[in-house]
Amino acid sequence: MIDPAVLRATMADLGQPAYRATQVYEALTRGLATEFAAIGVLPPALRTVLAERLQPLSLTPVETRAAAAGDARKTLFETPDGRAVEAVLMIYRQRATVCVSSQVGCSVGCAFCASGAHGLGRSLSAEEMVDQVLHFARELRDVGRRVTNVVFMGMGEPFLNYDETLGACRLLNDPAGFGLGARGVSISTAGVVPALRRFTDEESQINLAVSLHAATDALRDRLVPLNRRYPLAMLLAACADYVARRRRKLFFEYVVLPGVNDGDDQARALAELLGRPLYHLNLIAYNDTGGEFARPGARELAALRDRLVAAGVACTVRRSPGGEIEAACGQLAALRPAGPGR
Ligand code: SF4
Repeated sequence: MIDPAVLRATMADLGQPAYRATQVYEALTRGLATEFAAIGVLPPALRTVLAERLQPLSLTPVETRAAAAGDARKTLFETPDGRAVEAVLMIYRQRATVCVSSQVGCSVGCAFCASGAHGLGRSLSAEEMVDQVLHFARELRDVGRRVTNVVFMGMGEPFLNYDETLGACRLLNDPAGFGLGARGVSISTAGVVPALRRFTDEESQINLAVSLHAATDALRDRLVPLNRRYPLAMLLAACADYVARRRRKLFFEYVVLPGVNDGDDQARALAELLGRPLYHLNLIAYNDTGGEFARPGARELAALRDRLVAAGVACTVRRSPGGEIEAACGQLAALRPAGPGR
């Protein structure tokens, strides 16, 4: 994917009319083209010049792993500066969701997450995020399907890369381009409160999810270190303002860590914090990342859900496909160096 502004500037530089930039943009987004040679509406000479000047893809797919059940695929991409980043396609009966990474690594350092284990490499550009979606859109096109949802829940904290993430959303939503409805897009934050407040001001139908993972400051300070800067009272006040202003449902994500955040104290605190209209809590089973935590069983998850529902919290257990290929929540790491023969 090429920055549309760069595309327009290049066409102007080449003395081409503005509509040529539009044709290329449409071919790369809606048409899912990967090379200029395939853009038949362009004169052959222009295709050649563009290929010399511009890279139609900003990420190179290096390796794809598919879950045996066929419900998840994970692709490792290489950036132009040689970094590795991963994205996941989750395939359901009615939907096909791409989980996008917004950064290489992550600076937040949640205790249960592989992505944050080695800190932040760098933030990704909007085009690099869009390329992750376009890659899977091509794979789905080959089997007669399309991307219906995009979630910014891969590696990185999207609200610490706010402008590029929102830029990626705009590109994905553009009816003249890829054309994915904003209601099919979700951004997940660990609780960067100033960005959450900024997002509240956006005129957008994009969904928001807050990764909570603990309902008391003492525990959340440990599991989500960002909580030390933006403690729960500050975070929940921003959440309440979001719901009051936008009148939209707000999702909370909770990775269940048996014996750590599923006890009575946390359940009680959760009910107090989240038993409100338009709040919805998703419980997610912890996926093994080789750390100190255990994975909960289906029965433990259901018991916690039932307890919370009884206490007035809208709550469901969310299925997270792709565990066997380390593509599930918290498992994206891309620590292996990208290279030939992989
Ligand atoms: S869970 Fe999200 S915010 Fe936390 S370290 Fe992992 S990628 Fe970063």
